[in-house]
Amino acid sequence: FFKRLRENMSKTRQALGAEIQATLFETLDEETWERLEEALIMADVGATTTAKVVAQLEAEAESGAVEGGEALTNRLIELLASIARPKDEDAGRIDLRHSPTVIMAVGVNGTGKTTTIGKLSYHLQKELGKSVVLGAADTFRAAATEQLQGWAKRSGCEIVIGPEGSDPGSVAFEAVKKGREMGADIVIIDTAGRLHNQDHLMDELSKIRRVIQKQMPDAPHETLITVDATTGQNGLRQAQLFSQAVPVDGVVLTKLDGTAKGGIALAISAELGLPVKLIGIGETLEDLRPFDADDFAKALLG
Ligand code: GDP
Repeated sequence: FFKRLRENMSKTRQALGAEIQATLFETLDEETWERLEEALIMADVGATTTAKVVAQLEAEAESGAVEGGEALTNRLIELLASIARPKDEDAGRIDLRHSPTVIMAVGVNGTGKTTTIGKLSYHLQKELGKSVVLGAADTFRAAATEQLQGWAKRSGCEIVIGPEGSDPGSVAFEAVKKGREMGADIVIIDTAGRLHNQDHLMDELSKIRRVIQKQMPDAPHETLITVDATTGQNGLRQAQLFSQAVPVDGVVLTKLDGTAKGGIALAISAELGLPVKLIGIGETLEDLRPFDADDFAKALLG
């Protein structure tokens, strides 16, 4: 798995890892820290986080606490991992102990929401042997429903759909109802992501949430937002916006294979205080992974 992570994140690895090796293995002077800062910013680690990390490493190098290129690189990996790690261990996980556990997937169109639901349902249903019901509550786009139906077929899970243009809340309601009736383990609700009609979209999401709660007062148990890693700081703003409409529990960071800016995972944890729970590192069914801060930092630099 780690090998695959490193391979699929090769763009960030080449850009950031190579620059850091070149920098930290040379003489340490003012320019070293500037180059390090620049490399982290280029990788989308974010200005505040970058400044903090560089200041810490510089102080440790000056005091002689860490010496030599390799030790400095390892210390940098540790510092980055500590930023990406959720404060509380449970916060980084998806708790599947409810019956059913209701997961609401939100995010802007094109960020990889449907693909993520497909990968996740396949993993849960086919690999973990759980029973999954999908709810196609993006009723605005017929293509979204069709795409989800394709994933349901591949995963062998149930799907609840409504006619095009029907009320998204009622589809979500029916999906949770079906999940309860069937005694399913997990219900995953797909939602719309049309940002050009922002106010309407946010109303729709909070309404879907309320309707789900009519079936199960403590649901959704997990609201996940998909953020496209290639959109950089824009993704951060999207996550903030969605968090204002519905309480978001975690981030699925997609398309990490397609960017040299994988540092965005750190900016999300540090600046939004939201745990990255899953990462998408490609388009196949196996390319969804739990996020592990240590592996991630190592894959970036090690
Ligand atoms: P949605 O509109 O948010 O539901 O987005 P889709 O799931 O339809 O995904 C949009 C595009 O991104 C599709 O072409 C997907 O194959 C692609 N995609 C999704 N996740 C990943 C990923 O982790 N890596 C790569 N390379 N492509 C992805």
